[in-house]
Amino acid sequence: MLYRTNPVNQKPLSILGYGCLRFSRKGTAIDQAKAEKEMQIAIERGVNYFDTAYTYGGSEVCLGKFLSKGYRDQVNIATKLPHYYIKKAGDMERYFKEQLERLRTDHVEYYLMHMLNDIAAWERLKTLGIAEWIEEKKEKGQIQNIGFSFHGNTENFLKILEAYDWDFCQIQYNYMDEHSQAGRKGLKRANEKGIPVIIMEPLRGGRLVQGLPKTAARLLEQENPRRSPAEWGLRWLWNQEEVTVVLSGMNDAAQVEENVRIASEAEAGCMGSHELEVIEKVKAQINHCMKVPCTGCGYCMPCPAGVDIPGCFSAYNTRYTDSWYQGMKAYIMCTTLKTSPTNASKCLKCGKCEQHCPQGISIRKELEQVKRHMENPVYKIAKIVSRRIGKY
Ligand code: SF4
Ligand code: SF4
Repeated sequence: MLYRTNPVNQKPLSILGYGCLRFSRKGTAIDQAKAEKEMQIAIERGVNYFDTAYTYGGSEVCLGKFLSKGYRDQVNIATKLPHYYIKKAGDMERYFKEQLERLRTDHVEYYLMHMLNDIAAWERLKTLGIAEWIEEKKEKGQIQNIGFSFHGNTENFLKILEAYDWDFCQIQYNYMDEHSQAGRKGLKRANEKGIPVIIMEPLRGGRLVQGLPKTAARLLEQENPRRSPAEWGLRWLWNQEEVTVVLSGMNDAAQVEENVRIASEAEAGCMGSHELEVIEKVKAQINHCMKVPCTGCGYCMPCPAGVDIPGCFSAYNTRYTDSWYQGMKAYIMCTTLKTSPTNASKCLKCGKCEQHCPQGISIRKELEQVKRHMENPVYKIAKIVSRRIGKY
């Protein structure tokens, strides 16, 4: 296992982290015995970062039960505050206490604001005293590092990054999201600030593996028949020195072994220019399936009506390059769960954005299509639920 040093506290973090969202299930419950076996292999092979969250049904309990069998001191626990449920000052303490109980521990090494996707959500938390609460928890040693996980656009990521003295952050990043979400720009900025960056969705929920267009899969195979699409995706990440830990939601012993093998070889700078060109060709094949040729540059922003233009297009494209489910998930996450929604139907058709788009996209026309195809009954229900929990 290779390790990278957390520049904040100089401690080693395994470059492969265990994502605890996707444990195997027996019926509706987590298969505890199977999950424990897989986690044990990971720890024996050197994985020392385990990522869970309050809202990952049963995951904190499963992890806590396993770690209490003598493994707690060998790992860093990362878990997340469901800040969108917080309505009043005492709520954060209530959730945190419950999480410690579930995890059977008295402290967590890494604690995140879960899906802190826009700066307004952070401002709201500040009015409820979150900064003072964090300070108190850190003084008591109950929280060692404070960070946030992020699924919004680059602009909001940079704002949140500058809004507080964070110890780390977690972003969705993979070769298809190089210029969307926090993107390479966000990764580099976080690195310049001297904080570790944890990567989630390294293979876009598996879409860069089983969901690759045939032409793209063939390109990878021709280049190296022994290297799987998953290995290409992981190596692309570890090739970048700014990446600290890559999370993988492992639920199969062979998958743990294979990921550990790659994480024992993939040093920063491990990919040559020719291999990076192959990845660019694969991206071009995937982009060929896209509906809107938006690069996520953000020159069209800000929109006076509050539409997250690149976020809307990115989710809309995901529906066609990946799947309906992945696209809807991305659209709900990027346009709701915010103090103010940022969906396509908020467009007032002023046309201001179109003057700045280097791709010459008819943004108003395309947003109409986004609205038509994405703002279906499922979305409307998700928006109502988000409004209730976020109180916007
Ligand atoms: S046309 Fe719509 S998306 Fe573009 S700036 Fe105006 S309101 Fe925003
Ligand atoms: S300016 Fe054009 S390409 Fe850039 S994010 Fe906006 S719509 Fe996309």
